[in-house]
Amino acid sequence: MSFSVDIVGAGPAGLTAAEILAQGGAAVRVIDHMPSPARKFLMAGRGGLNLTHSDPLDRFLDRYGEARGFLEPAIRAFPPEALIAWCNGLGIETFIGSSGRVFPKTMKASPLLRAWLRRLDGLGVKLALKTEWMGESQADAMILAMGGASWPRLGSDAGWATLLRRRGIEVKEFIPANCGVTIGWSDFLKERFAGEPLKRIAVTSGGRTVRGEAVVTRRGLEGGAVYALGPQLRETSELTLDLRPDLTVAQLEARLERPKGKASQSNFLRKAAGLSPVAIALLREAGAPVTAVGIKSVKLATTGADSLARAISSAGGVALTEVDRSFELKAWPGVYAVGEMLDWEAPTGGYLLQACFSTAVAAAKACLGRFSAAPDRPQSLPR
Ligand SMILES: Cc1cc2nc3c(=O)[nH]c(=O)nc-3n(C[C@H](O)[C@H](O)[C@H](O)COP(=O)(O)OP(=O)(O)OC[C@H]3O[C@@H](n4cnc5c(N)ncnc54)[C@H](O)[C@@H]3O)c2cc1C
Repeated sequence: MSFSVDIVGAGPAGLTAAEILAQGGAAVRVIDHMPSPARKFLMAGRGGLNLTHSDPLDRFLDRYGEARGFLEPAIRAFPPEALIAWCNGLGIETFIGSSGRVFPKTMKASPLLRAWLRRLDGLGVKLALKTEWMGESQADAMILAMGGASWPRLGSDAGWATLLRRRGIEVKEFIPANCGVTIGWSDFLKERFAGEPLKRIAVTSGGRTVRGEAVVTRRGLEGGAVYALGPQLRETSELTLDLRPDLTVAQLEARLERPKGKASQSNFLRKAAGLSPVAIALLREAGAPVTAVGIKSVKLATTGADSLARAISSAGGVALTEVDRSFELKAWPGVYAVGEMLDWEAPTGGYLLQACFSTAVAAAKACLGRFSAAPDRPQSLPR
């Protein structure tokens, strides 16, 4: 039989669902209120589109924390290898970076998006841009893929939350995830060191330590190691930096015992301890003693998290208890919610996009199943 599906949101989750449903024979329309599709996906490609990660699957799944159990079936059914194969199938080769992250060789999202939109056009998918979803649809089924609440100017403004709450669907409050922390730096640090990276450090908060990089900004600190501690940093304002995590206290002490000669303290610390100028400035800013222990435990106090407008992603969204295993809303049969609009979170590293693709694949397949199987099931959307 022929059936129609409205997909709301032309981001990666919505376009994935569109592809599968159109291939399955549905008449698909993708609605988006922005003038062009996938603006956040294109923005993600600015700094190198990190599509997914090459972690062993078990470790990969652990990155979703409390949401692991909820996302696991969808990710196992459409795992990173499947996403990479899909990308390659669009003529975009990928590579694994030194950190294990997977990128398209072109780095940008635009060549991938262009090839994808061509494929969707060939499948007869209709794009209705500058079209705001008002909470209804005349189609036989709907896939909601309206994203989270970060970077609202790219289209994902979470305005839909009111429409779903009105139907009695629980939508958890949005909070910034994968965002920097604010710290009351001195003017000296802001003026001299904003933009400087702290490489190969370890950051500890709430009893959890993450190795990686951070960047000093005028507002505080950002970068992968800080983002990964998002859930901990929401609970505590304490942040400790180990500026030389690859050296033990004893190894660092031995280096600091070398004769200083006529070198200034900064030069000595740079040469003996291998500290960069920004690391030395942080040590002083925090009032940490210039000892091995001091260098390995620089204590900073955060004053908060960066705003949603600057966060890479958001936590919050449609409560996971509101959807079934195929992401169909329990309170609204025939309507599925996928991608970042669901209440899960993950660190940067490709885990965000992977879950968006995998949840969309699962929902689109379930939606197809709805129209091909069980003739006694209600097939059109209850209005
Ligand atoms: C700067 C930046 C860099 C990033 N880098 C990476 C990365 O390298 N790797 C990674 O995994 N993730 C990255 N992300 C996160 C990733 O881009 C998102 O998780 C992903 O785009 C979410 O996909 P989605 O399809 O669920 O929603 P979105 O991409 O947010 O798409 C939702 C769409 O719905 C539309 N919409 C919303 N409300 C309505 C409405 N009421 N009516 C009609 N249309 C509506 C929006 O206009 C939007 O087009 C990055 C994000 C940012 C901001």
